[in-house]
Amino acid sequence: MPSLEEYAGEIKELWDSRWLTNNGAKHKAFKEKLEAFLGVPFAEPVVNGHTALELSLQALGLKGEVITTPFTFVSTTHAIVRCSLKPVFCDIDPDTGCIDAEKLEALITENTCAVMPVHVYGHVCDTARIEEIAKRHSLKVIYDAAHSFGERVGDRGIASFGDISCFSFHATKVFHTIEGGAVCFSDPDLSEKLKEMKDFGIRDEEHVDEIGGNGKMNEFSAAMGLCNLRHFDQAVEGRRVAVTCYRERLSGVEGLILPPVQKGITENYAYFPVVIDEKLFGVTRDELAQRLAERGILVRKYFYPLTNALECYRGRFDPKDTPVALNISERVLTLPLFEELGAEGAGRVSEEIINIRKSQL
Ligand SMILES: *Cc1c(COP(=O)(O)O)cnc(C)c1O
Repeated sequence: MPSLEEYAGEIKELWDSRWLTNNGAKHKAFKEKLEAFLGVPFAEPVVNGHTALELSLQALGLKGEVITTPFTFVSTTHAIVRCSLKPVFCDIDPDTGCIDAEKLEALITENTCAVMPVHVYGHVCDTARIEEIAKRHSLKVIYDAAHSFGERVGDRGIASFGDISCFSFHATKVFHTIEGGAVCFSDPDLSEKLKEMKDFGIRDEEHVDEIGGNGKMNEFSAAMGLCNLRHFDQAVEGRRVAVTCYRERLSGVEGLILPPVQKGITENYAYFPVVIDEKLFGVTRDELAQRLAERGILVRKYFYPLTNALECYRGRFDPKDTPVALNISERVLTLPLFEELGAEGAGRVSEEIINIRKSQL
């Protein structure tokens, strides 16, 4: 969070203007700063990341099947289904956790209209291969970029890939606006459409063009975004220190597979997932999580269960269709990671993990 003073200063004008939402001064300033920061022609702030995904699918007027990944937060799959589209699940690359682009083409049918990959953990998808296949089959590409805010591939910003890239600015993300998100794209035609669609489809006082919903970001969230953008580098640096410590302490621990370092990527260090090889590590993922919890260390089983294994989709999808994702989801843990964790915190977590393994030998 920014300091209370900084945030108070940012929202002070709202008490004078009484303009709290609907494209106010903070929204305008935030949108401008966001576009410059991300290096995209258009970044439309919205109420949350989930709405960014739904609005994108709707704005592109998609119908039919969308190829996506089950190894993600539930929002990605729900967005597709809630827009009356059919998710078709592609398996993942076991190293990055992102969609396996080599398995994508085999899933394309005459009903396929789009691909929705996820830069999971901030690992960058094989964008070149995905977009080459999409182009050949005239498919739209919408990235769920919720984990990858501020990342760069070479000198290109992550938000510039695909037809659309969607971010979440939820309080738990590396960059946040309390609740919030953004839809990023370069097609100017989409700009008016999205502005209308996030505001009930309203063009002006007497004209409603679209059957839109309410996806507007309010002024208090935009103000939080303006503050947090100033401290983004610092937030990433704090995480980098912790991740560097995790890598130093945990590499070479038998039975623990660390995430890859992707070449040419400027990372945001959003998550630090480790995959447990039970035979070599001596305890299962679930036991490790349990024992860490007993020591006051909270880890998350991100992403377990797969979205195609959730109760609400029972009978509709089968996680066995994506065996690599199923396997990883049963063995992965994300370790504690936040700006203030520091080498000390990451060191303590690492030590406990090593102790738990040793106690098994
Ligand atoms: C957080 C997240 C979302 C949803 O974003 P909200 O802002 O919480 O609506 C969607 N996809 C992924 C991968 C996420 O991590």
